[in-house]
Amino acid sequence: MTERRTGYVWHERYAWHDTGTGVGIAGSGGFNQPHQAFESSESKSRFAGLVEVSGLIDDLVRIPAREASDADLLRVHTPEHVDRIRRESADRGGDGGDGFTPFGRGSFEIAKLAAGGTMAAVEAVVRGRVDNAYALVRPPGHHARREMGMGYCIFSNVGVAIEYARAELGVGRVAIVDYDVHHGNGAQQIFWDDPDVLAISIHQDRLFPQDSGSVEEVGGVGAEDTTINIPLPAGSGNGAYLAAIDRVVRPAILGFRPELILVSSGFDPSAVDPLGCMSVTAGGFRSMAARLVEIADETCGGRIVFSHEGGYSPVHVPFCGLAVLEALSGRDTGVEDPFAISFDDSPAHPLQPWQDTVIERAEEIAARLGLGRAEPGER
Ligand SMILES: [Zn+2]
Repeated sequence: MTERRTGYVWHERYAWHDTGTGVGIAGSGGFNQPHQAFESSESKSRFAGLVEVSGLIDDLVRIPAREASDADLLRVHTPEHVDRIRRESADRGGDGGDGFTPFGRGSFEIAKLAAGGTMAAVEAVVRGRVDNAYALVRPPGHHARREMGMGYCIFSNVGVAIEYARAELGVGRVAIVDYDVHHGNGAQQIFWDDPDVLAISIHQDRLFPQDSGSVEEVGGVGAEDTTINIPLPAGSGNGAYLAAIDRVVRPAILGFRPELILVSSGFDPSAVDPLGCMSVTAGGFRSMAARLVEIADETCGGRIVFSHEGGYSPVHVPFCGLAVLEALSGRDTGVEDPFAISFDDSPAHPLQPWQDTVIERAEEIAARLGLGRAEPGER
């Protein structure tokens, strides 16, 4: 593996975003005993802890997080959404917008720090201070729409970073690869009509949101085929995910020729995630990340930035995340995934015909994308 300068963003304040104990209370008829929300700080804090304890931190370049400004947020979000979050956060906290995205007092500033952390990682990569970067941010962002938060997301961290890169860093075309188990509906909405942002989402079919993420959704008028959805059936393992990368993500990005790649990095396709039904292992995430780094090498000088999204297993996410960071930086900490013995030889991993069918349909869109594209900068 080639050793690279990998930037790393983590701020202790990300762990202070308070999502409360009201999990599942809505609609339970009052019979659901309060319990820590699925989206808590646990999986992220423990990932950050393993980065320290493994010693990998010494090989990474720490990038300080900063708060996104109002102007940064407003390139993507409506003033009404930003103002409402600010107001509720200054009072007692509130909800991102869908009733399932609770936040406590002060989360407005933390959400700005999450968007700004992703911006800082993008800036470091685009300016060449590091080769690639991982922004371990919280709250996540890929479900946030322009006008509202949803699905534990308040602001679109990746969307805000992309618009910042285009407005201030001279970046033109950008590709998003989202391997979170849930559909990247926020990025899809934000960039639906934008032919210069390719949004690819690999997710569990109709998991969340249940009514979006089908192969038929390909982008708005003038931006056809710059949205690509790969809705894999529940149960998919490493084989299906790697086939999706090799057969859809790779040709799509090679055809699209972005100047920068953003990855919405969710570890909820993990075999032990409480919110997903997929079977990806730490080794599977490592292989996906390694291939994405190769694709970035082939298309945009290796410029790739991962921004953390979901992943709700406090015990598995740290090992999946460390594997991705090792792939980005070309280092080997020698830390072994304690779950490998349980899941590496699972029969879930070989590509199955019913998974292949979905990938085949997305392949057609990826193939079309390579045809008739302008050279970068010609638009
Ligand atoms: Zn997710």
